[in-house]
Amino acid sequence: MIPAVMPTYSRFDLAFERGEGTALFTVDGTRYLDFTAGIAVCALGHCHPHLVETLVAQGHKLWHTSNLYQVPNQIRLAERLIATSFADTAFFVNSGAEAGELAIKVVRKYHSNKGNPERYRIIGCEGAFHGRTLATLAAAGNEKYLKGFGPPVAGFDHVPFGDLDAMRAAITQETAGIIVEPIQGEGGVRAGSPAYLRGLRKIADEFSLMLIFDEVQCGMGRSGKLWAHQYAGISPDVMMVAKGIGGGFPLGAVLATEAAAAGMIAGSHGSTYGGNPLATAIGNAVLDVVLAPGFFDHVAERSSQLLAGLQGLVQRHPTILAEARGEGLLLGIRCAVTNTDLVRELNSQKLLTVGAGDNVVRMVPPLTVSEAEVEEALAKIDAACRVLEG
Ligand SMILES: *Cc1c(COP(=O)(O)O)cnc(C)c1O
Repeated sequence: MIPAVMPTYSRFDLAFERGEGTALFTVDGTRYLDFTAGIAVCALGHCHPHLVETLVAQGHKLWHTSNLYQVPNQIRLAERLIATSFADTAFFVNSGAEAGELAIKVVRKYHSNKGNPERYRIIGCEGAFHGRTLATLAAAGNEKYLKGFGPPVAGFDHVPFGDLDAMRAAITQETAGIIVEPIQGEGGVRAGSPAYLRGLRKIADEFSLMLIFDEVQCGMGRSGKLWAHQYAGISPDVMMVAKGIGGGFPLGAVLATEAAAAGMIAGSHGSTYGGNPLATAIGNAVLDVVLAPGFFDHVAERSSQLLAGLQGLVQRHPTILAEARGEGLLLGIRCAVTNTDLVRELNSQKLLTVGAGDNVVRMVPPLTVSEAEVEEALAKIDAACRVLEG
């Protein structure tokens, strides 16, 4: 008999009742160290006091009005995101995939609005992940996820990640834009080099293409900078964000330059829930914490500590761990054993992690993780490796 919840996930037999910072507690009170953070969502950990306070206060005031009316929290969040980025305008959605859908629409509309509707194709990268809607699946081109769901949405081409020559070679008269994750998350924590990101900007400029960066996972401080592309000193025309920006409340956004969004006028797009008073109150509260002085110093310190520790463990356990990589607190260990075996053993050690492509175990702890918690996690990984070494 089909379970009450449609069985599309392979879940662990593990349920949590309560969270506090980097810790999750099961019903029987067992404490787990959470280096998954809801898959890079709980940027400030679980039940951060400022977020809880905001949620309760806004919950008593107003939840939802629709976008028929002005939403002051939404305007304030848009203004703050714009002030901290390349963008001139923002549209709020509820998830990463919805941000992807809109980013694709913005890019197609841009060219159509300029009188070039034949320019609709977008080039993406192999190993990418942009969400599970039909268009975002087509954008990523992952056969495994597309199979069985009919003809993929037309208009997407794919080249290897990191290969500027292949990108250049794939451009035709119909190409409208490029969609790239500055750091591939699901694909295995693969960071595009600053030279690669700058090369993409140059190609986009040369061929009048719109450059979309998907920062759903690597954005909002995860990389060690507020936006991951800031490492490269360039900016996209359109950016997708979600995951961390709501700190656990469903919230996403598309940020765009004024030029890129020129075709987006009244009626071009909409979302019933998008940017409602409750979601955007929480989005503002996340920003309060992330933009506070010293926040990124903390992320950089914890990142160096965790990466150095992981590199040490790779040296110590070469038959289990092959390589430590990533930026900020979006880190991964490529495994010498099957990654899911390590994830499972780490679960037994009460450390939660998440698998990724390329046989990687991903570590995306809350950005607020403490020095002691990073040490504790490293000790647990060491212990798990010793178990797997038998
Ligand atoms: C998670 C993710 C998405 C999809 O986000 P959803 O909220 O699951 O729709 C898109 N792009 C990237 C890079 C992601 O990591």
